[in-house]
Amino acid sequence: MLDIQKIRADFPILSQKVNGKPLVYFDNGATSQKPQIVIDADAKYYQEINANIHRGVHTLSQLATDAYELSRGKVQQHINAKFAHEVLFTSGTTHGINLVTNGFASILKPGDEILVSALEHHSNIVPWQMLCEKTGATLKVIPMNEEGELIMEAYDALLSENTKVVTVNHISNALGTINPIKYMIDKAHAVGAAVLIDGAQAVPHLKPDVQDLDCDFYAFSGHKMCGPTGTGILYGKEAWLNKLPPYQGGGEMIKEVTFEKTTYADLPHKFEAGTPNIAGGIVLGTAIDYMNEIGFEAIHAHEEELLQYATKRLLEIEGLKIYGTGKNKASVISFNIDGIHPYDIGSIIDKLGIAVRTGHHCAQPIMNFFCIPGTIRASFSFYNTKEEIDSMVEAVKKAQTMLS
Ligand SMILES: *Cc1c(COP(=O)(O)O)cnc(C)c1O
Repeated sequence: MLDIQKIRADFPILSQKVNGKPLVYFDNGATSQKPQIVIDADAKYYQEINANIHRGVHTLSQLATDAYELSRGKVQQHINAKFAHEVLFTSGTTHGINLVTNGFASILKPGDEILVSALEHHSNIVPWQMLCEKTGATLKVIPMNEEGELIMEAYDALLSENTKVVTVNHISNALGTINPIKYMIDKAHAVGAAVLIDGAQAVPHLKPDVQDLDCDFYAFSGHKMCGPTGTGILYGKEAWLNKLPPYQGGGEMIKEVTFEKTTYADLPHKFEAGTPNIAGGIVLGTAIDYMNEIGFEAIHAHEEELLQYATKRLLEIEGLKIYGTGKNKASVISFNIDGIHPYDIGSIIDKLGIAVRTGHHCAQPIMNFFCIPGTIRASFSFYNTKEEIDSMVEAVKKAQTMLS
């Protein structure tokens, strides 16, 4: 059991008023709030050890390098990567995916196929389309059903020896569906395809085990798991990271540079050109420590309770429809109310202090599938409460009355 009031006290923003009302923050799928310990760690870095890393022999540079590499080790442990050099610091999920698609430009050729799921965020669609344009490879879509679940029979049928890459999110940001990625990874490997998992929505809720999953790449953002914006991780299997060419050229990623030829640095530096977000990388480690201290089992239990409670309460509202009704779901609820545009509800409940996301959630193909312009999305974190859900339900009812 979580001591929610104690946890909430860790997040200064949660005691704020917005538009004169207590803030109810249900836009965790877009970004999570940050605990004081994370805010303090950022300031402490700049106050005490700010220096560039992997360069100077001076003391501060060594302290900064040690802290940065310590954080890499924390991430390695957290996701159970075999080696620390399989953990690359990025600016976020988008960066991580583009690093991979860029690398595959030198591997794929016409006739090769990339399978992408119907449930993807634009970040995990557009880079693959760009890759297809560059290489002549073909993008194929793993379809979903009305519940917002990927159809595994269709997936099995799409796989062939032409399949070179399968890319899918662990959890859908728009619907909350938890995808059967272990099954999908095994099936993809059976035809020799590499698998990238977009873990952006999974890491706030669970602890992925990349060795157990056996995925080839796992990308996520720090800012959705209590860490700073502009931070993220790309996990890649050592063999793949050795095989892919560097993404960006510059300082840090080289072994030796002459005007005739440059040799690249070993992993992970080969993929970390230029001065990174040093403070962010270090503080991401603090965020991961914080979440582990709370414990992912307790987080799961609490969020599951919130999901069940919110689903039940929302369905009491006449004309309300939930999109994403699969069996395996994270604490994300997308919904609409008959005859009312999601934006109108979102604007009215914002006046009542309730922060939800409205729109297509960077997943237009999903909205097209349901023939809707968008949804209202409430995404819950471990620091949310049932009382906040009650406030949202009351606010939505009020908005419905005003708009109909
Ligand atoms: C947020 C999100 C992304 C993009 O993450 P950035 O931090 O904006 O790079 C990609 N995929 C999913 C599923 C997301 O939820």
